[in-house]
Amino acid sequence: MKRFQVLEEREAASRLATVAPADAQAMADRSAKAAAGFTLIELLVVIAIIAILASLLLPVLSKAKGKAQSIACLNNVKQLQLAGQLYADGNNGYLPPNISTWVAGLFVSLPGAWVEGNAAVDATDEKLKRGVLWPSVNDFQVYRCPTDRSTVRGKANLSRFRSYVLNGMNNSIEPGRARAPFEIFKDSDARTPSGVFSFLCMNERLMDQGGFALTCTDYFFPGGGYRWRWWHTPGDRHSNGANLSFLDGHAEYHRWKYAPRKNTTPIEGPCVNDADREDLRWVVLRSANYADWDTEGRLKID
Ligand SMILES: [Zn+2]
Repeated sequence: MKRFQVLEEREAASRLATVAPADAQAMADRSAKAAAGFTLIELLVVIAIIAILASLLLPVLSKAKGKAQSIACLNNVKQLQLAGQLYADGNNGYLPPNISTWVAGLFVSLPGAWVEGNAAVDATDEKLKRGVLWPSVNDFQVYRCPTDRSTVRGKANLSRFRSYVLNGMNNSIEPGRARAPFEIFKDSDARTPSGVFSFLCMNERLMDQGGFALTCTDYFFPGGGYRWRWWHTPGDRHSNGANLSFLDGHAEYHRWKYAPRKNTTPIEGPCVNDADREDLRWVVLRSANYADWDTEGRLKID
């Protein structure tokens, strides 16, 4: 037994002696690497787990980012609203004006309005600085929604400087135009200040001068077929909704029932279905003293 053991030990020693020192080192390195590294299967499993975790996390992160952007937008309209109230306090209650007209084929806001110019073509923040609200809100980023990716016409790399519009029934001044009984000029005109909107995150496809045009009547153009049609369209970049401020100072988010409105051609014009009509009704009823006017029997909300 002992003799066999001695022979085996000799044989093992002889086998070791036949391995060159360099080969022995290589074998040791491979052995160490095998102990410390991944096999291909292990690597694929890790990659698969990372992919699964990413697929779970990315929508959550994307949703959180969208929510944060909507809150930033809500804060912007709230700041513009506060500036509007400061303006009214210093101007006998008159709301910040919309003053717009056509100049050389372009619909623009004029001096004295809450902003000047036309956001689709203005290549600097100069027209914001000339607006009557600039002394109170003198940061151009407040005039821009973080989700607005639109660019200045003819300048593909230049972001626009304004994403918001002011309710066109709020102190709209157009020389020679008759004033409608439902329009609101002073803060005291509004029967329900919490139910009349001012600033609105706008649909970028129709952005131009500073006002949001809206009507549900033929009052301004009798018999012209202007009842219940979209002129401008609210934005829907925040989960198919927009942020608005109101005359009482509050701001809120509203989700549209027919967000595909942005894909209709043309985007302005009559409502295309019941959901679209509900959205228009929601905005119209919050744009002026229509409710009072309605009680006098001159407006049919159909
Ligand atoms: Zn916005």
